[in-house]
Amino acid sequence: MTQSEQDSTQVATRRTALVTGAAGGIGAAVAVRLARDGFAVGVLDLAEDACAGTVGAITAEGGSATAVAADVSDERAVGAAVRHVADLLGPPTVLVNNAGFARAASVGEMTTAQWDAVLGVNLYGAFFATRAVVPHMKSAEWGRVVNISSISALGDAGRIGYASAKAGLLGFTKTLALELGPHGVTANAIAPGFVVSDMTRASARRLGLTFEEFQRRAAESAPVGRVGTPEDIAHTASFLASPAAGFVSGQVIYVAGGPVD
Ligand code: NAD
Repeated sequence: MTQSEQDSTQVATRRTALVTGAAGGIGAAVAVRLARDGFAVGVLDLAEDACAGTVGAITAEGGSATAVAADVSDERAVGAAVRHVADLLGPPTVLVNNAGFARAASVGEMTTAQWDAVLGVNLYGAFFATRAVVPHMKSAEWGRVVNISSISALGDAGRIGYASAKAGLLGFTKTLALELGPHGVTANAIAPGFVVSDMTRASARRLGLTFEEFQRRAAESAPVGRVGTPEDIAHTASFLASPAAGFVSGQVIYVAGGPVD
């Protein structure tokens, strides 16, 4: 069977997706969108009850989802979470590494503990989850890894740990594409620009701006004249997870309302 035929077959036997950091924001929108696409979705976040809204939104539409608690920077917790999702929903063959957080600190300010924490979630977390899910993808001879990076990967003064982790994800993605392509697995990164979420709300507070003013400034500097929504990212993730994207791998898609590099 050719890879393209294999991709088509997978439509009929739709399976399980795991989305990290899916209690709210971009992760929640991605989880809901993948459920609409026919996937059973493991909704992973720090606390199980925080995932109730996302799971409820999916099941209300007739989809299938389960909440699973794990800190993605804890490799044992991630391994247990993947086993839990595999047992309940079936082995995950789509993984969206979305969990992330930013800490405002420049190179001189950042402590080692802060650096560890930021890389632990944004970069190690993606590694731990991917390593745990890849055996399922290899068994299925099909898989999709989507890593949520950021335009910060290109440089972000005052957030050196976050920028470094998000840049690291790009090398991670391209290497996954090389290593896993022969197993029918693609790996791509989405690098969002300004997206309305708790993360950008927190940035507004840090800068002493109202969220409305922060959004207005971001919209003004975006060529398309608006800020991004979690659904903008979910559309792209949906495509990358789909059989239609079987020939797209190792790419970084900037979803930022304009060119950024
Ligand atoms: P958000 O804060 O709304 O969502 C992040 C989610 O990750 C939260 O639900 C949080 O609980 C979860 N999370 C954090 N640490 C975790 C951990 N250790 N283990 C498990 N879950 C954890 O922010 P968002 O904007 O939806 O961010 C989603 C992703 O998009 C992040 O990787 C972020 O870096 C990236 N991103 C966001 C923007 C933006 O403008 N909002 C831009 C570029 C990239």
